[in-house]
Amino acid sequence: MKKQLFINYLMLAVFILAIVPTGFSQDKSLKNIAVLATGGTIAGTGESSTGSSYTAGQVRIGEMIDAVPNIRKLANLTGEQTANVGSQDMSVEVWLILANRINELLAKDDVDGIVITHGTDTQEETAFFLNLTVKSDKPVVLVSSMRPSTSLSADGPLNLYNGVAVAASDAAKGKGVLVVINDAILSAHAVKKMLTTPVHAFMSPEHGQMGTVSFGLVDFFHGPHGIHTVNSEFSIKGVKELPRVDIIYGCADVSTDLMGLMIKAGAKGIVIAGVGDGNINAGTLEAAKKATKMGIPVIRASRIPVGAVLVHGEVVDKDYGTVSSDELSPQKARILLMLAIQQDKNMSREKLQELLINY
Ligand code: ASP
Repeated sequence: MKKQLFINYLMLAVFILAIVPTGFSQDKSLKNIAVLATGGTIAGTGESSTGSSYTAGQVRIGEMIDAVPNIRKLANLTGEQTANVGSQDMSVEVWLILANRINELLAKDDVDGIVITHGTDTQEETAFFLNLTVKSDKPVVLVSSMRPSTSLSADGPLNLYNGVAVAASDAAKGKGVLVVINDAILSAHAVKKMLTTPVHAFMSPEHGQMGTVSFGLVDFFHGPHGIHTVNSEFSIKGVKELPRVDIIYGCADVSTDLMGLMIKAGAKGIVIAGVGDGNINAGTLEAAKKATKMGIPVIRASRIPVGAVLVHGEVVDKDYGTVSSDELSPQKARILLMLAIQQDKNMSREKLQELLINY
């Protein structure tokens, strides 16, 4: 199906769902949790339960919920299929549909929380996008799995069970968007996929995990970091698309024409996944100076997975008009920059730096 046609069908489905009652089976003693499915390995299937090859985004949400024993004892559940893709194909269009639908659902008195099933590859990006654009303090939890549903020791069912338990817990309220995987509760700001394939792939190396969830037993240790949800100044109400922001991956002798090529192709902002403390070769820094003079914001992040990029490091940002990503990874800094440009095309360097430090 053509991408635009697919998006149109999604919009139509979301519209129809918005006008029908939410339809929870009412056990008054339980919370009402809406599960929105987007695909991923948690919905993936493979030929062999011991083979490594599989296709993400095959199983639909009703089937996924029904496969989890006792999950309906945790909460009244409804399921919606928002998308069904491997999260390498997650897009700004789906993010906007998802965020609008979540805002619409959470505004209803009979919806207490949201669980989103997602692929692991870009899960932290969707979590961070929603952390900045959901306007509710009700729990929003992303769940995923590293092994497909047909795998020996599939981790999806328990992750989904635990995700519903967290979304239904009073303790999760006001904590921003959360990721639940492998018994850990992680914040949207801090969560990172650190390993390519094992079940313990997700960590929060700077801040640590926020809590644990063990067979539905929820235990929070501390709150999240950064401004989120109801306190976020970003809004996607009426927004149809976000400005293009591209990432340059730093390495020795990185091609210095990349930034110019990206801008020529339509980029309205650039993130450098620099080496070390957000460093990049002299030619790219000169290109950054030119770009920022033209009003194209440039953020210095790092290709190093752990640690903040210092505002005053080897690069003196004000000499090039650049800003540091602080703790945000290149992919999360990109999301913040897309929303920032959408909100204010002429945002000052100082204001952008403040956003990067505060979110
Ligand atoms: N490629 C898959 C996805 O992100 C990987 C996963 O879900 O674990 O959808």
